[in-house]
Amino acid sequence: MRIIDFHTHLDERWLGTPLPSRGELLDGMDRVGVAMSCIFTIQGLYGDCPRHNDALLEHAKRCPDRLIPFATVDPKEGAAAVEEARRCLGNPLFRGIKFHPWLQAIAPSMVRETMVEILRCAAEHDVPVLFHDGTPPYSTTFQVAAVARMVPEAMVVLGHAGLADYVYPAGRLIRDVPNLYGCCCGPRPGDIEYLVETGGADKILFGSDFGVCEWFLLAERLDNVLEADLPGAVMEKVLFGNAERLLRLRERPVASAGSPDDGAGSGA
Ligand SMILES: [Zn+2]
Repeated sequence: MRIIDFHTHLDERWLGTPLPSRGELLDGMDRVGVAMSCIFTIQGLYGDCPRHNDALLEHAKRCPDRLIPFATVDPKEGAAAVEEARRCLGNPLFRGIKFHPWLQAIAPSMVRETMVEILRCAAEHDVPVLFHDGTPPYSTTFQVAAVARMVPEAMVVLGHAGLADYVYPAGRLIRDVPNLYGCCCGPRPGDIEYLVETGGADKILFGSDFGVCEWFLLAERLDNVLEADLPGAVMEKVLFGNAERLLRLRERPVASAGSPDDGAGSGA
């Protein structure tokens, strides 16, 4: 079965801790049979987003058919954040935006106008916006759902589908908010069945946090999904089809999206 991991990180380090290299990330994907991974920064969540976005793009250019970068911007920077989102999404290798309101210290209500502009920009480029969710402050599943309601034309993904504490409201919010999706990244065994049943088979995706977690945790998280009591067609959607659709991989194949000499995007 084809598998897309919708939630991984590729960075040199997380604060003082070195993280897996691109080669190690690809090795881990190969071990468990993951074809493609959406890659996010981790250090860029603390500042200097453009440099980290450029680093992600460099990784993706090396293997565009396997690594799909999501840009991160800091909405506290106002217009500069919108500009950086446009710059990145101008390059077709970027297929999404990633926010971590908790680590980025952004209360969505305090940056409301900028956040709305960035989500509209993502909608114009037809790419999803993934938020870390499941932890206070700023990143409860309810707060992310509230942002999704502000811009109904944007595709908003709960990066952890409630994580542990918010799985049950996550299922109901995914059901009730048409543009809200859930990336099942970290929930416990049994949660996936609940999320699919409540939120809908077309709205749940698989993610692992590989890159900040080790490859054996990727294997464990994938096993939680593979061992779930789901019909084959639903399993295919969760592991591949829904991600393929949100990333527009059929309409805009990534392998042909960028030439090696592309910049980070002209803003066009
Ligand atoms: Zn993560």
